[in-house]
Amino acid sequence: MEAGIQKLLVEYLRKKKRIKTLEVLCEELIPEKKTKLSFSIQSAPKRPQPEVFIKKSSSKSKKSAASDEKPILPKEFKMIAKKVGLPKEHWDFFYEYRNDFKFEIKQDIKIHCTGNKGHCKFTTEVFENCLVDHMVESHSFGKFPCTKNVDCKFMAYSKECLKQHISKFHGSGRVVPTKDQRYSCKFKSCSYMAARVSALEIHHRVHENRLLLCQFCNYTSNWPYDMRDHMRYHFQIKTQECPVCNLSFINLKALNTHIKFHSSDFSCIHCHLSFKTVHKLNVHIISCERRLSKLY
Ligand SMILES: [Zn+2]
Ligand SMILES: [Zn+2]
Ligand SMILES: [Zn+2]
Ligand SMILES: [Zn+2]
Ligand SMILES: [Zn+2]
Ligand SMILES: [Zn+2]
Repeated sequence: MEAGIQKLLVEYLRKKKRIKTLEVLCEELIPEKKTKLSFSIQSAPKRPQPEVFIKKSSSKSKKSAASDEKPILPKEFKMIAKKVGLPKEHWDFFYEYRNDFKFEIKQDIKIHCTGNKGHCKFTTEVFENCLVDHMVESHSFGKFPCTKNVDCKFMAYSKECLKQHISKFHGSGRVVPTKDQRYSCKFKSCSYMAARVSALEIHHRVHENRLLLCQFCNYTSNWPYDMRDHMRYHFQIKTQECPVCNLSFINLKALNTHIKFHSSDFSCIHCHLSFKTVHKLNVHIISCERRLSKLY
């Protein structure tokens, strides 16, 4: 049976609450699913290099490909992108956020380091791999292969990332599956269970090291929205404005974390950031960018 039809059938039976039939069907599907699935998954690349950011849409199924067709990039945009030094793989992203970049005016665009949870102040000119050396030297980036599993090809970009992977995929940090999670990982020594075939495919990509790759700093991720936020960090695209002060943030999560601070009593008179304790406020004031920019 084709994976798409399987999925529809399972969903239909679940909706109609035909649990018995569903159970029988799923029992039949489990051995078949493993062999069937391997057809739609591309084999892992020979090189340890993961799949690049944009290639994701070409490997998608026909059904979803129609919904996220690539925009056609105008000639002028391509010319500017080339001039600024943006790697081709990320052009679609920059075109989508072209209004936030304003390349036409700002030719000397800088890329920001995302290290140290976004607190690293390092910036550089934009070109392919422009942050790689800095990430290796200052944020211990590198290539760290998964050590826990002989068949897992995952290559972490940092030690921290490797630690998270091992805990999440091979260790106690793994979430206990619910009864909806009936599709099991095809890697024998991994006990991950997915609720949907699509989630399982995303999970397999990690073991196969078929991830989205940042062409500037070699950061990798499994999730397009995560890579989008990563790019927003690199180029400081802050679209979420705080309604209390005039600071902006790259996404809602960051804004919400910030808003919580407004309810505390210790806020900086220079930038209106708030802190939980007077000590934290004092530490901040020493290095408050807004205060320093007024002084000098
Ligand atoms: Zn840095
Ligand atoms: Zn692994
Ligand atoms: Zn797995
Ligand atoms: Zn990056
Ligand atoms: Zn605010
Ligand atoms: Zn401040």
